[in-house]
Amino acid sequence: MIKKETIDTILQTARIEEVISDFVSLKRRGANLLGLCPFHNEKTPSFTVSPSKGIYKCFGCGAAGNSVNFVMDHEHLTYPEALKYLAKKYQIEIEETYDKPGIEEQHAQNEKESLFVVSSYAAKWFSDQLWNTDEGRSIALGYFRERGFTDDSIKKFELGFNPDGWDVFVQAAFKDGYKEEYLIKSGLCIKNDKGKLFDRFAGRVIFPVHNLSGRVIAFGGRTLKTDKKVAKYINSPETDIYHKSNVLYGMYFAKKAISREDNCYLVEGYTDVISLHQAGIENVVASSGTSLTTEQIKQIKRYTQHITILYDGDAAGIKASFRGIDMILEQGLSVKVLLFPNGDDPDSFARRHSAEEIKAFVKANAKDFIRFKTSLLFEETKEDPIKKAELVKDIVQSISLIADGITRSVYIRECAVLLNMDEQALLNELNRIRRNALKKNTNDVQTIENQTADLIVPLEQPREEILSDIYVEREVIRVLINYSHSPKKLEVEGEDGEKQIIETTVGAYLLHCLEEDGIIFQDKVCNQILEIYKEHLEKDQLPNESVFIHHTDENIRKFVIDLLANPYQLSDWSRHRISVNTEQNDLDRLVNGVLYSMKIRRIMQLIAENQQKLKEVKDDAMLEELLKEQKQLQIIKSQLSLMNGGRIVLK
Ligand code: ATP
Ligand code: MN
Repeated sequence: MIKKETIDTILQTARIEEVISDFVSLKRRGANLLGLCPFHNEKTPSFTVSPSKGIYKCFGCGAAGNSVNFVMDHEHLTYPEALKYLAKKYQIEIEETYDKPGIEEQHAQNEKESLFVVSSYAAKWFSDQLWNTDEGRSIALGYFRERGFTDDSIKKFELGFNPDGWDVFVQAAFKDGYKEEYLIKSGLCIKNDKGKLFDRFAGRVIFPVHNLSGRVIAFGGRTLKTDKKVAKYINSPETDIYHKSNVLYGMYFAKKAISREDNCYLVEGYTDVISLHQAGIENVVASSGTSLTTEQIKQIKRYTQHITILYDGDAAGIKASFRGIDMILEQGLSVKVLLFPNGDDPDSFARRHSAEEIKAFVKANAKDFIRFKTSLLFEETKEDPIKKAELVKDIVQSISLIADGITRSVYIRECAVLLNMDEQALLNELNRIRRNALKKNTNDVQTIENQTADLIVPLEQPREEILSDIYVEREVIRVLINYSHSPKKLEVEGEDGEKQIIETTVGAYLLHCLEEDGIIFQDKVCNQILEIYKEHLEKDQLPNESVFIHHTDENIRKFVIDLLANPYQLSDWSRHRISVNTEQNDLDRLVNGVLYSMKIRRIMQLIAENQQKLKEVKDDAMLEELLKEQKQLQIIKSQLSLMNGGRIVLK
C-alpha cells in the first residue's frame, strides 16, 4: 500500500490544470480553464477545469473528478496506478507499506494465484495440443480453419483443444506436477462418484476467457460432434477467479477500441467476437450465454456511454433480452440494436464483409432501442386493445429509466406517433411511473400528505419545494460546503432575560438546528457527509471541501465535486426566493430557507406517524392524547409556514 503521507504529498503537488493539459488543450476562461472533453465527442468545449478547487467537470457528459480521477478515467488505471503515474510526473518518491496480510488473506491470495497458474498452464497445454499433435491439427485446427478463423486469430485468442477421451488432460497435468485440488477447483476436471477424475472439456475445442489484464480465468468448450444430445457449448463453473456475471468475453482485446470508437458492440458469443475482430472490428464483447448483468454494463461504461447490440434475427431471443437492455438504460448508457437479416449472425456476416462494410451496415441499420422495441411489439398487438395497453406501459417503463429529461420527452413524442396515441396520455403514464420510482427511493412525503390531507392546512409553499427530498438534502449539504465557515450572528436570551448577540458559524448553526429537531437525511451519501461534519464539529474544526474532494469513498467524492461544479444547478428550489448573485449577502435567508424545508418535512413525518397511531389506537384516553398532539403539530406547521423558517424548535 502507498503510504498516506505519500498520497497527501501527491495530492498537494499535482496541479489539476497541469495534469489535464498533458491530454487536453485548455484555454483560460475567467477563473477556470476550458477545453474539449476527452470523455465524449464534442465540438464546442464544455469541459471545465477549476484550478482553485482542484476539480474538473464536463457540462456535456457529466464527467467530473479530481486529478487522480482524471488519470484513472482517462488512462483506465486503478487508484494506486494513477497515484504512481502522478508521482512519476512530479518526481515524488513513492513510499509503500508492506502490511503483512493475515493468514486468511494470504491463503486467499495463494488460492487465487494457484487458480491463475493452473488456468494458464491449461491454456498453454490446450494450445499445444491444437498446434502440435496430429489429432489436434486434423480435427480441431481443421475445424477452426474451416470456420474461417485465420491462424493469427487462433493464436491471438489462444484457442486450443482438449483431446477426446477420459482424462488426457488430467494425466498430463498430474505429470507436470499439478495437484488434484486445483484441477477440480478450477473446473477443468470433475470427480465422479467413484472418485475418478475426468476432463470437463474432453473432445472439445477451447476458447479461453481472459480477465481485463489478459490472464486466463476460465474456458468455454465447443463440441466437435454433430450429435444433438451433446451440449454444443459448455463453460467453466464459477470459481474464485471467475465470476460469470462480472466478465465479458473479449473485453481484454476490445477495451482500447471501445474507448477509441466510443461504442461497444455486444454480441452473443465467442465466435462472433473472433470473426468481427478478424474482419477488423475490435470494439466488440460477448455476454456468453448469460443475460447481461449490471456489473458487465458498468464495465463497459468505463470505456463508453454507447452500446450497440448485434442480434441474429430470432424474435423470442430478442424479447428475452429486453430486461437486460432496460438495465443498460438505467445505467445511463445509450442503446442501439441491430438485427441481422435472413439467418445471418454477426459471425457469418463478418466472414463475408470487410470492416468498412460492417461499419456502414451497422450505421445504416442500427435502430435506437426504444424505437426498435416499440415497433417490434406494436406489430404483435395490432388490434388488441388490452395488449396495446400493456405495451404502452412496457415502453413507457423503459423510457422512464432514461435519466435525461429532454431525451425522455423526445421519446414520448415519437412513441405517441408510432403508437398512434395522445402524447399527454403517455406523459401521464410516464409521470406516474417516475413518481412511484421516486417514492421507492426516497422518504415518501407525498403519501404522507395524502394520508393526512384532511388534517393539514394548505401549504403556502409550492408543492415541489417540499416534495423533492433529495433536493432539499443536497441543498443543505451545498450550503454547508460553500458557507459553513461563514460567520453567523445569533440573538439569544441570556439567563437574566437580557438579549445578547453571539457569533458562530453557519456550519455550527445549521448542524445544531438539525440536531435539535432530530433531523436525519434519507439519502445515504448526504447522511454520510452530515456525519463527517458532525464529527469535525465535535473537534471544533469544520471540514474544508478538500476533505470531500479527496475522500476515499467514491460516492462522497463524486457527490461533492458535482455540487461544487454545479453550484446553482440544484438550487432551482431556492431561486424563487433568492437570486444567486446575492446568495452570499442573503446568507441568513438561504440558511433559514433550507432549515424551513427540513423542518416542514420533519413535521410532516411526525404528523404521519401520529396519524398512523390514531388509526391503531384502542383506548379513549390515548386517543385524546394523540388528537391533542396532532393539533399541536398542525399549529407548529402553520406557524412554520407563516414564518418561513424562523426559529421554531419542533420538540
Ligand atoms: P454453428 O456452427 O452451428 O453456427 P456456433 O459455434 O457458431 O455453431 P451458435 O449456436 O451459432 O454456435 O451460437 C453462437 C454463439 O453463441 C457462439 O459463438 C457461442 O460462443 C455462443 N454460445 C452458444 N451457446 C452457448 C453456451 N451454452 N454458452 C456460452 N456461449 C454459447
Ligand atoms: Mn453460428
